[in-house]
Amino acid sequence: MVELKTLEEIEQMARGGQIVGDLFRELEARVAPEVSTLQLDAFAEDFIRSHGNAIPVFKGLYGFPGSLCTSINEEVVHGIPSANRILQEGDILSIDVGVKLDGWCSDSCRTFPVGEVDEVKQRLLTATREALERAIEAAVCGGHVGDIGHSVESVVEGTGFHIVRDLVGHGVGRTVHEDPQVPNRGERGRGILLREGMVLAIEPMIAVGTHRIRTLSDKWTMVTADGSPSAHFEHTVALTAEGPRILTGEVSSVSAR
Ligand code: MG
Ligand code: MG
Repeated sequence: MVELKTLEEIEQMARGGQIVGDLFRELEARVAPEVSTLQLDAFAEDFIRSHGNAIPVFKGLYGFPGSLCTSINEEVVHGIPSANRILQEGDILSIDVGVKLDGWCSDSCRTFPVGEVDEVKQRLLTATREALERAIEAAVCGGHVGDIGHSVESVVEGTGFHIVRDLVGHGVGRTVHEDPQVPNRGERGRGILLREGMVLAIEPMIAVGTHRIRTLSDKWTMVTADGSPSAHFEHTVALTAEGPRILTGEVSSVSAR
């Protein structure tokens, strides 16, 4: 069932989302060669918990051990922060994080270059970021959920890259994962009607070489089936009468360096 949020509830969600946006600014400055993903995770947990009763909502969710999902290169989602995962020049790192504040969740992801990255990775980051921007523009009341996926497809088409098909966006509210599903592929005018008060996590995941993924033996980390790099950008977006409102920071700040 899709739960619609009131304007007041959306304001509450925006307060938690602001913490996420602020956290990404801090993390961007800390993503660098020689840094471990566990260091980033520890910083993020402290940062989140320093804001009133905010908690890192991924920690313990379905048993996940981290506050962040940190996924490097061919890792698509759900990478586990570790002292043994040291960032290296040329990596790309997807950081996915959720905050719960006053009972309301938010969910956002960005992929950062570590130092200088090669041209393919740069194009991948640009395309995935643009796919998110176009998808958000399509999230308007009176449209359909297929419009969002169609927008992602129209950006990826012609790049030679592939949309990860098995993972989708979702509604967000008192829990991180709610109805409806928000696929990254679709046809205009198809799927459920987009209505005022919906809050959606829109999150294209794009890989260089394949749409297929598999899960590693840690039972969490999902990687591209061919080992090619992938990127992931996500915002929590409220559908308002005035248009889509991003709750997890500025759209411009999804930019790659
Ligand atoms: Mg996420
Ligand atoms: Mg999500």
